Amino acid sequence: MLFSYVFSMAVIAAILWGIGVLMNAPLRHRLILIGIIGGIRLVPVVIEAAQVWRTEAFRRELLGLVVLCVCVVLAVLYARWVRSLKAQRQPVKVETVEEPAQAAAPRPASLFAEGELERYARHIVLHDIGGPGQKALKQARVLVIGAGGLGSPALLYLAASGVGTIEIVDDDVVELSNLQRQVIHSEAGEGTLKVASAAERIRQINSHCNVIAHDMRLDDISAEPLISGVDLVLDGCDNFKTRYLVNEYCTRLGKPLISGALSQWEGQISVFDPASGTPCYRCVFPEAPAGDNAPTCATAGVLSPLPGVVGSMMVAEAVKLITGAGQALRGEMLIYDAKYAETRRIRLQKGYNCPVCGDQG
Ligand SMILES: [Zn+2]
Repeated sequence: MLFSYVFSMAVIAAILWGIGVLMNAPLRHRLILIGIIGGIRLVPVVIEAAQVWRTEAFRRELLGLVVLCVCVVLAVLYARWVRSLKAQRQPVKVETVEEPAQAAAPRPASLFAEGELERYARHIVLHDIGGPGQKALKQARVLVIGAGGLGSPALLYLAASGVGTIEIVDDDVVELSNLQRQVIHSEAGEGTLKVASAAERIRQINSHCNVIAHDMRLDDISAEPLISGVDLVLDGCDNFKTRYLVNEYCTRLGKPLISGALSQWEGQISVFDPASGTPCYRCVFPEAPAGDNAPTCATAGVLSPLPGVVGSMMVAEAVKLITGAGQALRGEMLIYDAKYAETRRIRLQKGYNCPVCGDQG
């Protein structure tokens, strides 16, 4: 009785799941439908079970079912554990800067200018970063899309962390209404290009940081040369068109993409790492809102410190990816709700037939 119920429900669930995948139905809807059908079919089973509860055969069947469930749960947990282990500790490949022949013996100090070791002392003594991690940061080349809300804290902390080369792309100018949250800019910079204002501030923070400012909006022509030349990309732009473009080229070129987004009181962050086989941005957001009309900061508003929280978390992920420290947020999304001081983590799924990272791509 119980086994026949479980077996028939497994078949029904597999069929419904397959139909849901074909129709690109959300995971939650598929689970709800399977749950409803399973619940309805369970009613006669429970009634029958109540009648034969005391029989030895029923108890044996129930015990077998419990053992089966425990085995399935253990197998699922084991698979998740193995998957999380695989996703851990895969530092991005940082293209090493060529050193003079006489400096072939790797001495961390050889890369650093006078005073830099003291500047980065708190990193160098930090477990999991240390001298090798700081050296990797120094040799890293990072591209930041957008010098706005998310880009501001991201650029400040990339510079302070000691990332060797930072490239910035933005075609906007600093406006008074930006200063409520875009902390890299100042009143003196109002009316100037954001990339110029940001580059100047970065040089004030860390003169050892090489800043390359691109006064432009990323497009099909500029995306490939820009992204192919860096080790990883931080995307803090404010429109879906650019987000899709960045995702497409990061996926094609195998570059890790740290993506952040904001909406009023809520921020989210994910790490899309094609080399680790994670889902891509398009898997999670298959279609842009009609006409790219997602509410913007200008129309919906945004809490002043929210970009600071999310942009700083983006740099924490960047530092982990570059140095190999800890466990990056690969294949997951972290959502921070500032209004209720809550955080949630969601495991992301590969999109069926994703036009960017799917098999046909
Ligand atoms: Zn995808």
